[in-house]
Amino acid sequence: MIGNQFTEAVKRYSSINGGKFLLKAIFFDMDGVLFDSMPLHARSWIKTFKKYGIEIPEHEPYMNEGSTAYYTINKMFRKYQNRSVNSDLLEQIRMDKHQYMASLPPAGTVDSMPEFVNFVAENNIDCWVVTGSAQKNLIDRLNMVYNGHFERNKMVTAHDVKIGKPHPEPYLMALQKSGYHVGEVMVIENAPLGVESAKAAGLFTVAVNTGPINRQVLLDAGADVVFDEVKQLLDCRELILKT
Ligand code: CA
Repeated sequence: MIGNQFTEAVKRYSSINGGKFLLKAIFFDMDGVLFDSMPLHARSWIKTFKKYGIEIPEHEPYMNEGSTAYYTINKMFRKYQNRSVNSDLLEQIRMDKHQYMASLPPAGTVDSMPEFVNFVAENNIDCWVVTGSAQKNLIDRLNMVYNGHFERNKMVTAHDVKIGKPHPEPYLMALQKSGYHVGEVMVIENAPLGVESAKAAGLFTVAVNTGPINRQVLLDAGADVVFDEVKQLLDCRELILKT
């Protein structure tokens, strides 16, 4: 069933991409895809905004996920206080959130993802990370907890980009840095802004719905196919290899 959905999605994507799709690399998002870090980000954002007089609902961090901290802060102030934020305050709020997040226990990996990464890497699919995160502790731990499959030179992080997701910039930068072309890469994302970014860069994009949002939000953002859990991604591993 999910295998059929994946195969159909590949066919649709190939047909609009001039019939060309030969998988050589996977660009992984980090938060909510490789690390189960979204509950920690959500807690940190809720606490930080509360300090500045904004009560954001629980789902809000998940809807903004994937973007840079600056994007989230600007958007929340416009949405809930109808005002802009000067650069000093922007930096102060970013640091508050960053420090609170760093004080929490480190996030574990997303269930089944190490098994999936091992499988694709051992079958010569090149693994890259494209993240809006600047969390040094998570970025530094990636390569270690994922068996050396994510070297620092195979990453695009918040430190590399100027605009960030949902703009295509991070994925375009990953294409440029890696030398792969559209039609050779599959993206794995879990958040609508991340999906928008990858699709705007022209990439085949799988969404794995590891958070509390409705799967339709991910389809509306343009995901080629939505998996409800990483286990379904594992079920499709042989199909993915043949892509
Ligand atoms: Ca994410």
